[in-house]
Amino acid sequence: MTRYPFLDLADVNRPYMAELQAAAAEVIASGRYIGGEHVAALESDMARLSGVGHAVAVGNGLDALRLSLRAYMELGRLKGGDEVIVPANSFIASALAVSESGLKIRFADVDASTMNIDWDRLPLSDATRAVMPVHLYGRVAPVPEDVVRQCIVLEDCAQAIGARIGGRPVGSLGHAGAFSFYPTKNVGALGDAGIVVTDDAELADCVRALANYGSRRTYHNVYRGVNSRLDPIQAALLRVKLPHLEAENTLRRANAAAYGETLDNPLIVAPHMPDSADEHVWHQYVVRILDGQRDQFRDYMARNGVETAIHYPTPIHRQPCYGEFADVSLPVAERLASEVVSLPIGRCTTPDDARAIAAIANKF
Ligand SMILES: *Cc1c(COP(=O)(O)O)cnc(C)c1O
Repeated sequence: MTRYPFLDLADVNRPYMAELQAAAAEVIASGRYIGGEHVAALESDMARLSGVGHAVAVGNGLDALRLSLRAYMELGRLKGGDEVIVPANSFIASALAVSESGLKIRFADVDASTMNIDWDRLPLSDATRAVMPVHLYGRVAPVPEDVVRQCIVLEDCAQAIGARIGGRPVGSLGHAGAFSFYPTKNVGALGDAGIVVTDDAELADCVRALANYGSRRTYHNVYRGVNSRLDPIQAALLRVKLPHLEAENTLRRANAAAYGETLDNPLIVAPHMPDSADEHVWHQYVVRILDGQRDQFRDYMARNGVETAIHYPTPIHRQPCYGEFADVSLPVAERLASEVVSLPIGRCTTPDDARAIAAIANKF
């Protein structure tokens, strides 16, 4: 029986092994282990990729989100208790960034077809000052112009590096964007890494200071900052992988197309295929299993050699750490959490694999 692993990170990095080793060796020999040219070069590459003027590398994706919010607070553009709208079906980090900053979360429900924030039912209130659209699974959540005018829009781009809509890259649709280079992301470091992108020079400067103990010059601390700098060794490794982003995303699109053409089972709802202006990067290929048969489906796939995953089994407002939202009802996010299954789509999956996996799923 052919086995189809969900994602094997050693396999993901193996093609780059020689270049990764050379990049790591160069940093080790340089004697410069914080800051420096690799970090600066990754920042300018990411600013260019995102179509904005500034990028600030930080320790991880959560810090990219939370330090952006803190910077807005330090600059007086947000204050404690202001409301930030977050979709309920994201990874927990989207919400943690808000609550940790002393801001108030307002969870939004999502659209069943795109699985992204439902702009038509945005829970705006008098206290809403910011919105955090999440480009979930690599699909752009296009931000309406009136929302950009009314609110601070911080895009969670963690799953969507390289995604564009009408030619506009994620990270340039709102006022700032946060990326993660967690090892499983479409471009993954060999450890933790993240970056903030923005056209706002003042914001970028403030994030940079916050990530460096709140200081712009040594031993002069303007803010009560944190230590969240990106290691140059990770920046050097990421610069090996970043030039291959388009090729990787092209493979993911071919895999998604192969699934879409082959899947044919009334119990399985395949994801909506975007039109060509909507450049989805398929961080995950997420189907919905109807009739409450998700567990049976996953067991069946596993018995047939296909590893699957669930992103995410619990909507954020139902997590134990957010007990204060127990009364909040977000029916679409709740239903999706009970139906979604992610099929293998990363760089170790080929379109032939996707067709074979879909053929197995069709017999469920
Ligand atoms: C991965 C991820 C993050 C957090 O990134 P880390 O680098 O793991 O801190 C935030 N938001 C979303 C949607 C993610 O998928």
